[in-house]
Amino acid sequence: MPYAMRRYKQQLSQAACSAILDRGTSGVLALLGEDGYPYAVPLSYVCRDGRVYFHSARAGHKLEAIAHCDRASFCVIDQDQIAPEEYTSYFRSVIAFGTIRVLEDPAEKREALRLLAGKYFPDDPEGREAEIQKTIASVTMLELAVEHMTGKEAIELVRKDGVGPEN
Ligand SMILES: Cc1cc2nc3c(=O)[nH]c(=O)nc-3n(C[C@H](O)[C@H](O)[C@H](O)COP(=O)(O)OP(=O)(O)OC[C@H]3O[C@@H](n4cnc5c(N)ncnc54)[C@H](O)[C@@H]3O)c2cc1C
Repeated sequence: MPYAMRRYKQQLSQAACSAILDRGTSGVLALLGEDGYPYAVPLSYVCRDGRVYFHSARAGHKLEAIAHCDRASFCVIDQDQIAPEEYTSYFRSVIAFGTIRVLEDPAEKREALRLLAGKYFPDDPEGREAEIQKTIASVTMLELAVEHMTGKEAIELVRKDGVGPEN
């Protein structure tokens, strides 16, 4: 499945991709709906050990699409700095591809929700745990097992970092 990046000098290392996923606060999950339309839906997320976790309501377009097709991709934009005078954007982004599933096991589900809550609400661990207890029954947790991940940045950023010459 992996496509080689045509402008390979702009490709980021796997470590840089992981760092972007770690510091990002939202991304766009792309799913294939049963009507044949791609469904690209923005979500909060957390990453751990090559997996990306999301929380969701218990029904909706997203879950129906996942039931139809378990292959997905997830895109996080790290930077989009417009340089009008250069007619460009100093961009940096990551796309992760993999398979997505609903976490059915209660222990797995709770652990994923804990991870997610810990990322967004790092303070007040007791309050966080109480909130998890309150909401867990009404929440669906999703896990994207990443099979392939690429990152790319604008050539201007490559030059600025001194990583490589222009393509
Ligand atoms: C930055 C950000 C972070 C978010 N984080 C989360 C999260 O962590 N968990 C979560 O469950 N939701 C989150 N949302 C909301 C999320 O984008 C969806 O609206 C929500 O998950 C419901 O998805 P669904 O497919 O079940 O919705 P449904 O109500 O079943 O969707 C029906 C239709 O509504 C439209 N729709 C749904 N969502 C959106 C949207 N965001 N923008 C425009 N049209 C839409 C689409 O046309 C879709 O086909 C976030 C949104 C943003 C912008």
